[in-house]
Amino acid sequence: MEVVKLHKSFGDHEVLKGISLCARKGEVISLIGGSGSGKSTLLRCINMLEVPNKGLIYVNGEGIDTDIDHNGHPFVKDQKQLLDIRSRLGMVFQNFNLWPHRTVLENLIEVPIHVFGESKKVAIERAEALLERVGMAHKRDEYPSFLSGGQQQRVAIARALAVEPKAMLFDEPTSALDPELVGEVLKVIHSLADEGRTMILVTHEMAFARDVSSHIAFLHQGIIEEQGKPEEIFNNPKSERFSQFINAQH
Ligand code: ADP
Ligand code: MG
Repeated sequence: MEVVKLHKSFGDHEVLKGISLCARKGEVISLIGGSGSGKSTLLRCINMLEVPNKGLIYVNGEGIDTDIDHNGHPFVKDQKQLLDIRSRLGMVFQNFNLWPHRTVLENLIEVPIHVFGESKKVAIERAEALLERVGMAHKRDEYPSFLSGGQQQRVAIARALAVEPKAMLFDEPTSALDPELVGEVLKVIHSLADEGRTMILVTHEMAFARDVSSHIAFLHQGIIEEQGKPEEIFNNPKSERFSQFINAQH
């Protein structure tokens, strides 16, 4: 997956000011940076929840064509391509975003059946295997509100995997969790990294980012101020701002 010179504005406010980033197959990229630096906007542009004003995004080598309409708003030219790209990316949000009126199992089979036209049997088999994988098989018929935050997030990860994504995008997946529940979610994310999945992860868990990432990018005010391999950038921060950021995390 590659992002080239991406720009995104909301009205007059330019939030991303020319971001370039590349995640090769099997790489894990962590995005770190202060609140408001543009991390979520970048993830949302990658799966086209926000349409960038300028720049290119490639998923699996295929570029996404965007244009600007007569009101100056960016849009995706080909709606089929838009659906295609979205369905190839698994997104996990800070607040789980499970469908509250669907059981755990129903959350996992909804998109495969109704968007991809899969048979119920195949969708259920895959869903059961994924729930097993994240340690949630015993809750398959439960509704989300009866689960802990950590359990909901593990279900959300399984749901993202159920579309057999080419890459996974995580936006602060543990930030809404009580501290004692963070570990169980990080463990699942780590196991996905270990099996060679391509992932982009926004996180404040520095030790985890350092451990799991092939590459780390530090965002500040919509630009990547510093990036590199974890050991390189943490052991040898170049900018004052990044040093301060690291020190503030302890
Ligand atoms: P981060 O995830 O790093 O905290 P965000 O990407 O959420 O940062 O936000 C970056 C900036 O973009 C912030 O100033 C935020 O207020 C602004 N922003 C994000 N989304 C929108 C939106 N939909 N409309 C207007 N401004 C937005
Ligand atoms: Mg954010």
